[in-house]
Amino acid sequence: MKFECCICNEYHEKGIVLMHKFICRSCELSIVDTPQDQLKYEIYKKKIKEIVTNII
Ligand SMILES: [Zn+2]
Repeated sequence: MKFECCICNEYHEKGIVLMHKFICRSCELSIVDTPQDQLKYEIYKKKIKEIVTNII
């Protein structure tokens, strides 16, 4: 079974569910390991903020 990642919008089997949203393994790692690419990091932060905001 595959889930749609809420960050990269691709379908993956492995990942985590954070606040009822699926985040694939590669995106999870990208968040955990601070990406070199600052723009990419800003996008991730924005996405996470959106997820958290939607729950509240
Ligand atoms: Zn992803």
